[in-house]
Amino acid sequence: MAAVALGAAALAGPLAAQTPADTLIYNLAVTGSGTRLSVEARMIAGEGTSVFLASPPAGAGTSVTAFGASDDRGAPLLVQRTGSGYVIARSRPGPVRFRYQLSFTDSVAAGSTAAGLDSVRLYAVTRSLFVAPDPVLYRKMGHPYPVVRLQFLLPPRWRLVASWDSLGPVLAPRSGDDLLGGAVAAAADYRLYDGSTGGAAFTVAVRGTRAFTDSALVDLVSASLRLGAEAFGAVPVPRVTYISDTGRKGRTSGSLQGTSAVGLLWEPGEMLERARSHDTFHETLHLWFGGAMEAERWWTEGVTDYFAARLYAAWRGDPRELAALCYESLRNYDRIPHRRTTTMTQEAHSLPGGDNTIRLVYRKGMLAGLLLDAAIRRGSHERATLDDVARRLLAAARTHRSKTIPESEIGEAVAEAGGSTAAHEWTRVVTGTEEITEAQVAAALRTVTGVELPPPPPRPANPKTLSKPPSP
Ligand SMILES: [Zn+2]
Repeated sequence: MAAVALGAAALAGPLAAQTPADTLIYNLAVTGSGTRLSVEARMIAGEGTSVFLASPPAGAGTSVTAFGASDDRGAPLLVQRTGSGYVIARSRPGPVRFRYQLSFTDSVAAGSTAAGLDSVRLYAVTRSLFVAPDPVLYRKMGHPYPVVRLQFLLPPRWRLVASWDSLGPVLAPRSGDDLLGGAVAAAADYRLYDGSTGGAAFTVAVRGTRAFTDSALVDLVSASLRLGAEAFGAVPVPRVTYISDTGRKGRTSGSLQGTSAVGLLWEPGEMLERARSHDTFHETLHLWFGGAMEAERWWTEGVTDYFAARLYAAWRGDPRELAALCYESLRNYDRIPHRRTTTMTQEAHSLPGGDNTIRLVYRKGMLAGLLLDAAIRRGSHERATLDDVARRLLAAARTHRSKTIPESEIGEAVAEAGGSTAAHEWTRVVTGTEEITEAQVAAALRTVTGVELPPPPPRPANPKTLSKPPSP
């Protein structure tokens, strides 16, 4: 932390609005022969005499070794290791070259937020790849982030999949966040599908073989973007890249990285049924909630999950899909021990992380989406829905620099759309801890879909035990 503070102080001095942006050019070489990647960079930094660089965070699945720096003529520069990265000392402004080796812990990424490299493919979230200036620090200083250009040197026939803009063979991240907040993949056998819908272009890159066809996945992605745009306004970014690869057996995950790269790492036997289709809608809707608008986690994860379920069911033309997903959330919610003592926001602030299936922000958050939607519809005599509230909040987020909508503002919008009925539901479900019941979920589903959707019959708690009755 001390090094970060020092960096801030060093940058604060020469701060000037007319300062031309520094430039930073990376070459990343993948040899295709192991789990290591070589990186070289040249940075032209106009101000100050020290260059401050942050390393990939711990837990990113990569480690940096053999870091060294020199001037343009090859004379070594002093490098100091800090808690979070490196400081390169130089005697005057001018180009600095640095290089490092990046070792991957895993040959195959453990999930969509991880990194993996082997002899046939690369998948990585981009913050795991770069030793780079910290964009947060630059923003704090009001200093323009370097203009970044990237070139990947890949084994023969490998193709790169990334959400960055390209200028011929060179990639051009738009900002430090764009550099460090995306996902990239490369392999010889990526199959690329391009399309456009909902006001945005999209690319679906698929490798490996699963139980479903590529076209089924492309249809699903396209539907998620189209229905998302119909409900919440045009896709908030000009282009979205979906990377679908096979991961390890038993590990399945999807995530939006940054603002425009969706990773879908699914296990080899994966089928494109309700669960994965719903996940895909969920990740797409993060372009709006989590991308264009930030809020408390129960909204960003849970309400997004509800919208994803409702839009997926609408696309399938079957409200039973929505019901199945809501009742599944209810079953998980019923297993959360703190459901009657802790609000979703208290949980998010006291128990960050953890297994999604037993977190209120996901499970109760999804039910909160359903119950608030139903209450707004009832309270407004079917003149408003939760979608109206979401659109209004998205519009407000566009005017906030942080894009963050406080919980109180969501509550006000809910009450305005659905009157006292919705305000009462808000108090019960969001700011309160009263238990949510199966009857309430069934009633809300009836309001939202117009049809009766009773809960599925209870499944045997433990079929294995039942199949082996105890011996007398
Ligand atoms: Zn999510």
